[in-house]
Amino acid sequence: MSRRSLDDSVQFVKGVGPKRALLLNRLGLNTVEDCLFMFPYRYEDRRRVQKVSQLSPDEHTTFFGEIINCRSFPISSRRTIFEMLVGDDSGAIPLKWFKFNKSYFEEKFQPGLTVMVSGKPASSRYSPSGLEMIHPDVYVNPDLESEELRMGSIIPVYRLTEGLHQKWLWRIMESVVELYSGLLEEFLPLEILKRHSLLARPQAIRDVHFPPADTDFQQLTEFRTSGHHRLIFEELFLIQCMITLKRKNAFKPTQGIPLTTRGKTIREFSKLLPFKLTGAQKRVLGDIMNDLERNEPMNRLLHGDVGSGKTLVALTSLLTAIDNGFQGALMAPTEILSEQHFLNLLPYCQKLGIPIDMLTSALPAVQKKKVLHRIHKGLSKLVVGTHALFQKDVEFRNLGLVVIDEQHRFGVLQRDALRKKGLHPHVLVMTATPIPRSLALTLYGDMDVSVINQLPPGRQNIHTQLFKEDQRDRVYDLLEVQLHAGRQAYIVCPMVEESKLIDLKNVQDTHEVLQKQRFPERTVALIHGKLKKEERQGIMSRFKAGDIDILVATTVIEVGIDVPNASVMVIEHSERFGLSQLHQLRGRVGRGKYRSFCFLIAYPPLTEEGKARLKAMTDSNDGFRIAEQDLAIRGPGDFMGTRQSGMPDLKIADIVRDISIIEVARKEAQYLLDKDATLALEENRALKITLHRLFKDRIELMNIL
Ligand code: ADP
Ligand code: MG
Repeated sequence: MSRRSLDDSVQFVKGVGPKRALLLNRLGLNTVEDCLFMFPYRYEDRRRVQKVSQLSPDEHTTFFGEIINCRSFPISSRRTIFEMLVGDDSGAIPLKWFKFNKSYFEEKFQPGLTVMVSGKPASSRYSPSGLEMIHPDVYVNPDLESEELRMGSIIPVYRLTEGLHQKWLWRIMESVVELYSGLLEEFLPLEILKRHSLLARPQAIRDVHFPPADTDFQQLTEFRTSGHHRLIFEELFLIQCMITLKRKNAFKPTQGIPLTTRGKTIREFSKLLPFKLTGAQKRVLGDIMNDLERNEPMNRLLHGDVGSGKTLVALTSLLTAIDNGFQGALMAPTEILSEQHFLNLLPYCQKLGIPIDMLTSALPAVQKKKVLHRIHKGLSKLVVGTHALFQKDVEFRNLGLVVIDEQHRFGVLQRDALRKKGLHPHVLVMTATPIPRSLALTLYGDMDVSVINQLPPGRQNIHTQLFKEDQRDRVYDLLEVQLHAGRQAYIVCPMVEESKLIDLKNVQDTHEVLQKQRFPERTVALIHGKLKKEERQGIMSRFKAGDIDILVATTVIEVGIDVPNASVMVIEHSERFGLSQLHQLRGRVGRGKYRSFCFLIAYPPLTEEGKARLKAMTDSNDGFRIAEQDLAIRGPGDFMGTRQSGMPDLKIADIVRDISIIEVARKEAQYLLDKDATLALEENRALKITLHRLFKDRIELMNIL
């Protein structure tokens, strides 16, 4: 037989064959190495068998009992459930299935049969024991001696695909782990292995797939065993090496545009401001000005809470580029936000004599042609727009700085788009709300980061309260009190899909009911994305002027709107919004000297996630805390909202759970690459090869190592 290799196809592992290999391929498993790095996502403890009376909620368990009774019955016109009562001499517990094959279940389960049950009990108000189990695994007439049950061991549980069974997968994984884990070579430098007492790779792989019988089960469930630690560390360390390399080298070959800062335009601009900069704004501008003066392009991320004054920082930076004779561009994710930015910046630009233009894809062809010409000739100094700014047909004369206002879309794509156009301006990326530290260290790890951690003086804490849908009248009463005191209010309705007419009808209905029935004496206006730009701007200026009391809106008002007299934000169907969106909406009030309110209206039943989001809102006004909560609730994939977020796929690490390991890995990566920037030393050879294998494309793109 030929020698074994980690690249061997799974098809040739004993017991697999072509058919099952296809199933494994569907899970992304093509080689045996892929199998070694497909980890259990949880474990079951079958070392001890419990009595029914010993079960406790949310703790995975295995027990034996007898089926006392079982039946399927409808709970609504569309749903049927299967319920089974299982007991031993200590007590009984109901088991429930919402998804099941009726004839199979009725045939397989009969009163009087002995079963082994494995699963997680949950608290239940309706069960006499206070517990129930949803969708447990049940084995009829279990043979304790049989291999299949693995009594006495801790068993791994893998994610499966249709047609694959755990029991079969165990056998495959056992033989792969036994035959191949020894082939895994070490690539971490000895010094790091020692410093963090890391297990050898083969040992770690074996322990994580098939934990030894004396493993602490709690540690195992939390992915904190030595085996887990080793593998999590190595995964995060490789990513941090990559990020550090990128940050150290990506911009090196590129000539930047060193700018002179604090020039004439900036001095004039600061005289126009009606307020003093906050300490945080000054500090952040200091960071940015230092970057701009340097001979390499700035690559900086700016984040801070809603209303912390990021726009001002952006504008000051853009004016610096313009003061040096260059063009500046401000890119926003939507038409409406571009418009808002444009209107906010316009008065300053007019006073300073700076030609400003807006470029979006909605622009009529004739006008667009004009703007493109002005950009190309350098007549346009400041350009505000959507991603249309970086399309093929746009040619800048001398672009010095781009500010990307990303709002919720934590993407890093635009920078790459710029680079592809052969442009190397200074780049400042801003996010709408704070980003959690774990993301700053991974997703944005190759950028310099500045934080505005202070709000302008006089901002109000916003009293936030949750109401059920049937308490809406109470909300309107509270609203009336504020209107009576001279304040204004927003009522926001969700857009599920922007194109859907139903959504439009919802806001229209809400508007009509409010105007005609509930607040006939008040002026209630409606604003949404389907209105023409002029109409929208007309309504906004009437609201700003105080001629409108209540503005019913879709999320078009989410960003960029600033009316200090508005003190009430009502959010309809608040359970449908994402957390950072809710926080962003709430940030529309509390901008003046008035006590402000955010009333969240929710439609039960709420999902667990929905409850957690709304609780986070009523618990805190602090965007930094909310961002951490949001990440914890949704997980990184959904949090960033896009597959192309630039975040590498993680096989075992979890950036929320493993934040402290990220920090250690980062320090180690930086330390190592400071000493050996191109990994030329013999002791770092294996690491270099591993990085090449894993990040081939990126490393070639950057021409490093
Ligand atoms: P965000 O960081 O959410 O983009 P903005 O830039 O829109 O916040 O600023 C919110 C509001 O705060 C704006 O009306 C802006 O004019 C105002 N503002 C910004 N900086 C200050 C400051 N130093 N003092 C007082 N108000 C400020
Ligand atoms: Mg903003």
